[in-house]
Amino acid sequence: MSLSQSSVNAIWHPYTQMKTAPPPIPIVRGEGVYLYDDRGGRYLDAISSWWVTLHGHAHPHIAEAVSKQVRQLEHVIFAGFTHPGAIELAERLLNVLPSNQGKIFFSDDGSTAVEVALKMCMQYWHNLGEKRGTIIALQGAYHGDTMGAMSVSERGAFTKAFEPYLFDTQFIDLPSADDPHASRNQLLTIIENHNTAAFIFEPLIQGVAGMRMYDATLLDELIRLCKEHDVLTIADEVLTGFGRTGRFFASDYLTKKPDFICLSKGLTGGTMALGVTSCANRIYEAFLSDDRSKTFFHGHSFTANPIACAAAAASLDLLESESCQGRIEAIHGQHRSFAERIKRHERVRAARLLGTIVALEVGHAEADYFDPLGPKLYERFIERGVLLRPLGNILYVLPPYCITAQELELVYDTIMEVLDNIES
Ligand code: PMP
Repeated sequence: MSLSQSSVNAIWHPYTQMKTAPPPIPIVRGEGVYLYDDRGGRYLDAISSWWVTLHGHAHPHIAEAVSKQVRQLEHVIFAGFTHPGAIELAERLLNVLPSNQGKIFFSDDGSTAVEVALKMCMQYWHNLGEKRGTIIALQGAYHGDTMGAMSVSERGAFTKAFEPYLFDTQFIDLPSADDPHASRNQLLTIIENHNTAAFIFEPLIQGVAGMRMYDATLLDELIRLCKEHDVLTIADEVLTGFGRTGRFFASDYLTKKPDFICLSKGLTGGTMALGVTSCANRIYEAFLSDDRSKTFFHGHSFTANPIACAAAAASLDLLESESCQGRIEAIHGQHRSFAERIKRHERVRAARLLGTIVALEVGHAEADYFDPLGPKLYERFIERGVLLRPLGNILYVLPPYCITAQELELVYDTIMEVLDNIES
């Protein structure tokens, strides 16, 4: 039995309609920007495997750190105990995060990093004895697949079946330069009429919504208003963290810094699952008490897993190197000239660019996530050995930073060729 056959029998894949999806491709090895299947096929991973891989697959520096750590200490309960890897990582993260961030709380992935931030906000007000329940989020938001994260995400196909169980959230428009006052006024109206606990947002770019980008100055104004009204702010940097937007964090573009920052995906260079929620010291201080009921009662079995922490520290070594920072700039420059070129293509309605992410709107204006163009394009790219996974009619390139100029050109050429030949 081939690998894919056994997978069909035993495994239920995520975000996959198991009745109609083609069998999954069995990947047996990764190296740099490439994934290799069990039949000698090779795929250039132009989306960093769901946006996680920063330095390429099976990077030797991270592999070395993980292998050393697994022999030393594979895991330890993180209540009552700590370990050097977690301490080092927390200190290094606080050194690169905006200076208002004072504490690091570990969890498992992007969704749990968001859950932690939401629960910290709710309990912060509870501990202070204030009744504040309303959470504000942006239309089009995606913050994860757990119940709290879904509650603050756009109501749509992903959340439909769960709507009766999700808590109410107030949604405002994505800030837009066309009407800069709209979302600001909506935010103010909600704050004035509800006891608002927090405002959560994906800074500068909404990934799952289709790489929708918006301006830092508009977000700054929303955060400023929140601060003026003592509403807590949560930046979900699960996608944007670790250089994706051209700066270390998207929050680095902001003059007003959020109270919480959620991290995952690139945190370990894409090697291990790990989540982080950082917060300002005043949040932490609201949980300090002789009254034990004010404790933050949240923790996962694998909190601050030492192997994941070792992978994250090794990934930071690479990310902080001059060569990696140079690659991030170079990818941006190359994306910019590609966006200029491709936006004249008859099938492309718009091209968007932020840091190392370039996104193209293709096909019909009314297309959504279920647009059949997405799977069709996906197949054409796979046939050509390039992994690109459009979000409906939004085609984007979000590569590992180790991608060479030639490899990136090959991705662009493949996109050109597929768009030239795709039937409408
Ligand atoms: N927040 C954002 C902005 C994301 O893009 C994602 C995942 N795509 C998540 C949260 C959830 O992360 P995870 O899949 O690791 O739970």
